[in-house]
Amino acid sequence: MPNKTPITVAHGDGIGPEIMAATLQILEAAGAALEIETIDVGEKVYLRGNTSGIEPSSWQSLLRTKVFLKAPITTPQGGGYKSLNVTTRKTLGQYANVRPCVSYHPFVDTKHPNMDIVVVRENEEDLYAGVEYQLSPEMTSAIKLISRPGTEKIVRYAFEYARRHNRKKVTCFAKDNIMKMTDGLFHKIYDEIAAQYPDIQKEYWIVDIGAAKMADTPEAFDVIVMPNLYGDVLSDVAAQIAGSVGLAGSANIGDNCSMFEAIHGSAPRRAGQNLANPSGLLLGAVLMLVHINQSEAAERVHNAWLRTMEDGVHTYDIYAEGVSTQKVGTKEFAAAVIARMGQKPNRLKAVTYAKAPPAAAAAKLTSTAGTKMELKGIDVIVHWPSRNAQDLATVVGKQAGDGLKLQMVDNRGTMVWPAGLAAAETFCTDSFRCRFMAEGATDHAKTLALVKRLSDAGVDIVMTASLRTYDGVAGYSLAQGQ
Ligand code: NAD
Repeated sequence: MPNKTPITVAHGDGIGPEIMAATLQILEAAGAALEIETIDVGEKVYLRGNTSGIEPSSWQSLLRTKVFLKAPITTPQGGGYKSLNVTTRKTLGQYANVRPCVSYHPFVDTKHPNMDIVVVRENEEDLYAGVEYQLSPEMTSAIKLISRPGTEKIVRYAFEYARRHNRKKVTCFAKDNIMKMTDGLFHKIYDEIAAQYPDIQKEYWIVDIGAAKMADTPEAFDVIVMPNLYGDVLSDVAAQIAGSVGLAGSANIGDNCSMFEAIHGSAPRRAGQNLANPSGLLLGAVLMLVHINQSEAAERVHNAWLRTMEDGVHTYDIYAEGVSTQKVGTKEFAAAVIARMGQKPNRLKAVTYAKAPPAAAAAKLTSTAGTKMELKGIDVIVHWPSRNAQDLATVVGKQAGDGLKLQMVDNRGTMVWPAGLAAAETFCTDSFRCRFMAEGATDHAKTLALVKRLSDAGVDIVMTASLRTYDGVAGYSLAQGQ
């Protein structure tokens, strides 16, 4: 018996306690060596007035064990409650969300009998940083953040995952034909890191057509790595087309603490009736066992579960006449898996989990020290209620000086001054961006003096952005039509 690994367990809300009890029974029967610390999270904690859904003492448990097996929780309706998942992910730096999506044809109905993909989603950046502003009565904005270290970590994780799990290919989805700087960086770093893994195939798809291909022919993919937003949407699509969101588990991996769970919610309508399917949480627990290097127990649990599926012992959510042999409740399902412990599936592919190789030295993040930056100008975002671009250009253009000239004005990213191709037809909102550029380099004193002159002239300034080059390359996008 290996040494027991301390883990933190939360039983959650709704169906959570039932599926957690079933999962823990199965793990025990498989000989998983776990020392469990139980914490309370979710609805009760929220309703006690703790807006994060977790007590400080429970955090201490997570920081101590560094492994969190979490049942779904209910976030109470109404404002002010922060998502516990987002808090855990962000506070504990869980940068990778890993979600295997496998079909179990012919035992679970699916249009894609040979699907076996793993979505690796970046978890901390992108539009999910939640940096939003209302710029004017008519305009709102969200800032999409993609960093070099954040992307290096997620892409390297995807390739290391592929190597460890004997996967052949890592595909990247992004949209760098439109978001040249943010998704462009994601794609560029994917190329850099892929070159360090010659044993694994690489492939890049623009996310829209890639998503269409994945929904149509998922068997063409293996591991797919993507930024946060695309990953959020497409990991649900992948789980659903595999057969059921009720069957998928997921891991949130961080350098310090990782969290394992089902992808579904707390299904309050099914709670307390011994109806829920514990499979999603159980497969999340399998990911946890692999993570803590209890690969033998992981294999026993997963193969016994596959055998149970194949024997047609199904909960109500996947029960189908002609395929299923027995409709069971949560407890009976757990008992059926335990009864098959040590067995392997006959028709579905049995799983094998290799013992983890000795931990490779953490790859160093690429240093960007020494990047040469030069200030070239400033974008001034203004609220201009009349929506008339020509009037705005006349007013702000008069304040140019110190070598800074008004280069263009745009509305929602489309240049409307100087009159572009179809400026008269271009619809304008009340929020404009005015771009002032210098001939050569400029400095903050000059750009800020310009902002002050604009303010003195009565222009309603909402936001400004420095326009710089990085090693000679523009660090700002051009407006449409510029
Ligand atoms: P849900 O996933 O709880 O339920 C969606 C549907 O799937 C329901 O019909 C439900 O009965 C069914 N279902 C889900 N899991 C099942 C299982 N294991 N066995 C059988 N049937 C199952 O989604 P929802 O109804 O949108 O959300 C309910 C609550 O869960 C909300 O409070 C939401 O905030 C929360 N939620 C929590 C998490 C989490 O903790 N990770 C994730 C998603 C939703």
